[in-house]
Amino acid sequence: MNLQAPRGTTDLLPEQALAFNVLEQTALDVFSRYGYALIEVPTFEQLDVFVRGIGQSTDVIGKEMFFVYSMHAAEKLAAGETLKADERLALRPEATAGVARAVVEHNLVPPGAAPAKFWYAGSMFRHERPQKGRLREFHQIGAECIGAAEPTADAEVIIMLMRFFEAVGIPRQAMRLLVNSMGDEQCRPAYREKVREFIVAHSEQLCADCVRRAGTNPLRAFDCKNLSCQQVLVDAPKLRDELCDDCRQHYQQVKDYLTAAGLSFEEAPRLVRGLDYYTRTVFEVQVVNGLGSQNAIGGGGRYDRLIEEFGGKPTPGLGFAVGMERIQLALEANGCANRMQLSPQVFIVVVGAEQVSAAFDLALRLRDANIRCELDHQARSLKSQFKLANKLDAQLCVIIGPEELAQDEVKLRMMETGDEQTVASATLTETIRKILP
Ligand code: AMP
Repeated sequence: MNLQAPRGTTDLLPEQALAFNVLEQTALDVFSRYGYALIEVPTFEQLDVFVRGIGQSTDVIGKEMFFVYSMHAAEKLAAGETLKADERLALRPEATAGVARAVVEHNLVPPGAAPAKFWYAGSMFRHERPQKGRLREFHQIGAECIGAAEPTADAEVIIMLMRFFEAVGIPRQAMRLLVNSMGDEQCRPAYREKVREFIVAHSEQLCADCVRRAGTNPLRAFDCKNLSCQQVLVDAPKLRDELCDDCRQHYQQVKDYLTAAGLSFEEAPRLVRGLDYYTRTVFEVQVVNGLGSQNAIGGGGRYDRLIEEFGGKPTPGLGFAVGMERIQLALEANGCANRMQLSPQVFIVVVGAEQVSAAFDLALRLRDANIRCELDHQARSLKSQFKLANKLDAQLCVIIGPEELAQDEVKLRMMETGDEQTVASATLTETIRKILP
């Protein structure tokens, strides 16, 4: 059998690769206005980075990790030996844990410093059951604001996220912004206990997974994909009603800032998000139609204890990640995907083999002058060269024949209209620049 890309992965063929590149450019453009700088952390880390950062009881850690073993480590494992911590590696399922590790390792946010703001883009890996919008290798763009506890920071991050989605072309009315507060160590333990009691009391109506979760991490039940469980959990206690005064005030202020910024949002009292590290504000953006059950295009929240988990001084922070594949699906579903192709602006056609070296020189000259230019490398006939120029969607053809070459001229043909003009070689670049948009 022919070799294929592994299940749950996709090749980013040029059109999609370009579209992803445009998403990253948009992120750079929008995020830098908010003071964010690009950071790149490794694609694999010590397993402990993710276990500590994301939480043992999450699906991501419990079920979905891809482990990385060097040959040496694999041999040790096969021989029944125990691996050292730095031999137990895993592909990153998300980047926040890696960024938090880097922040502590390089002391990027010393006490009292202004918040450090980072953004990243790259592949993430989760061993999930592949379906539309859910892959095993997928791409995220994310941002982290580390060092600020105030509600203005939450509001700024959420506003920046929505501005980003709008800048990539998703219409505002096609998105739902959901927000919730998950409380903190003051109020969440008592709430968690209430949810546990609720699950135990309703165990006959809930799936085995939810009941099991009651013992480990009851709030995870809210993430259950089972519709009947969701219906039961509608009546579960809501954290909104159990928040301590500080959390309630923080949450209210975040909502006030969002409202003042003209951002519409919905409160989602059962939004807990899949990772353990969140405290207080959490949010998710969904698209209204076209993506089926995988309708979340991005989400995030506050993680005030995360930096401490990595051995840093208590440092508040928050961030989000968006799924690049899902953004593309959302753009397509809403008819807003730009078909992108970097077609040549100019195609050089030669009448015979004698003009090839002049065409080759000219192509180099045009490219050096910042013009996208292509020519035939397969000694095609004149007719086939024009066909190729059409296929590549070139805007102009430069035609070089024996007479033109003798006169130091070329013919310039507008591909759309077929209009032709003769141009002196010396002024060709200038003329092309005037014609091209
Ligand atoms: P999370 O890191 O789980 O908060 O996910 C953030 C965003 O990444 C989600 O809203 C999705 O858009 C995207 N995402 C998460 N998991 C996958 C996956 N397996 N395949 C594709 N996109 C994903």
